[in-house]
Amino acid sequence: MMNVTQSKLHNGSLYWPSTMSDIPSYPALNQRVVTQVAIIGGGMTGAICAAVLARSGIPAVVVEGNLAASGSTAANTGLLQFSNDIMLHQLAEQIGEMAAVQFYSACRQALKSLSELADTASFETGFHQRSSLYCASSLEDASKLYKEYGLLRKYGFPVDWGVPSHIQHQDSFRETAALVTHGDAEVNPVRFAHGLIDGAVKQGTKVFEKTKVQEIERRNGRFVIHTANGQIIANQLVRAAGYLPGIESSQQIKPILRRSYAITTPPNSLPSSWPNHYMMWETARPYFYFRTTPDGRIIAGGLDENRPDPVTDSNYLENRAKHLLAELSSLFPEKQWAAEHAWCGTFGESADDLPFLGESPEQPGLFHALGCGGNGTVYGMLAAEMLKAQLLGEKHPLSALLTPRRAGAKPNTQII
Ligand SMILES: Cc1cc2nc3c(=O)[nH]c(=O)nc-3n(C[C@H](O)[C@H](O)[C@H](O)COP(=O)(O)OP(=O)(O)OC[C@H]3O[C@@H](n4cnc5c(N)ncnc54)[C@H](O)[C@@H]3O)c2cc1C
Repeated sequence: MMNVTQSKLHNGSLYWPSTMSDIPSYPALNQRVVTQVAIIGGGMTGAICAAVLARSGIPAVVVEGNLAASGSTAANTGLLQFSNDIMLHQLAEQIGEMAAVQFYSACRQALKSLSELADTASFETGFHQRSSLYCASSLEDASKLYKEYGLLRKYGFPVDWGVPSHIQHQDSFRETAALVTHGDAEVNPVRFAHGLIDGAVKQGTKVFEKTKVQEIERRNGRFVIHTANGQIIANQLVRAAGYLPGIESSQQIKPILRRSYAITTPPNSLPSSWPNHYMMWETARPYFYFRTTPDGRIIAGGLDENRPDPVTDSNYLENRAKHLLAELSSLFPEKQWAAEHAWCGTFGESADDLPFLGESPEQPGLFHALGCGGNGTVYGMLAAEMLKAQLLGEKHPLSALLTPRRAGAKPNTQII
């Protein structure tokens, strides 16, 4: 195991930081800065918001308490899908078919926007278009999955039914009921976030690292953001501070925190029987999933636990890694699998499986950008688009659905 790191959001040997030999760094804030938008948090969400604002010519400052892309973003396995943890037909039962389709369509559009951002990022981000194989974990789930296929197809989403013929020769998938979604993608989250931040800086955005926001005050309609050695005065505030509480306690959203595990196999370990770099996940909850990397690794994850803190016991982490390797062995029994990296990370969920995005009803000018569940990057893109619409005085079609004050946020998720 390499690159052993510890933080409150992840623990173990992360893979992504090892893919960047020269990670950009930014100064700590030691002055008073005036801007239009202050973004608290330099993770994936803050980076996407910064990139979108920079491209729209909106002045912004990113303030990061630790290092950019070092929070949950560094533990992210980098699967980007328009399908969500909650299936379209289940979401339709929850919020109505039209609203559910609108949300799924927005996620699909967000993938296209992420692809455009990747194309113009200042360096290679590991963004590649992929298709996903969504496998039924049980006979009962096969009919659920087929229902999902029908609804996705009805609304023109790019889906096929059945395991593609070039994967069928893999015995473990031959009998599996599966839905294939196209237009998904994989990304290197650390390179992507840094690429976006670097690009935004070149367009005028200011970024400060190792600058924790300690207090936020309202003065003459503006936000005064206090840090140890400086101040940021901003008209608008974006809370892209991820899952841990700490700032804006009066308006805080409390996601349900869980921990999840992931491993990376060595380069060139990808079996030739798995062509076209398909991403794979399943209908069971929590789900096992894997994706590949351009240098022939498999990144596999799952085994979510109802615990907020990442595991600190290295024996337990090793045991979870073995469990993920055993899952791989059951799918590809012809190979001997080993993990080069294994880690555990914290992520947040909401009671209704939707992210919390939008302006605080109590504090005009404060925008919450908190993506929950396994699709946080796509939700980061939605957040940036909604933020931009708000700043331009436009109404975003998803604002009522995703508002942090929505009824669906109850009962496990509180806004205090
Ligand atoms: C194991 C695992 C696998 C995952 N896989 C995927 C996946 O395949 N696809 C996907 O889309 N998502 C995935 N996720 C979820 C994804 O990691 C998150 O949704 C996403 O990274 C959240 O980004 P963020 O910027 O909101 O949070 P973070 O990356 O945590 O960034 C928040 C930043 O805010 C900073 N901050 C906090 N408080 C302050 C303060 N007071 N002052 C200044 N700065 C502050 C923190 O230091 C941090 O850097 C996964 C998560 C885990 C744990």
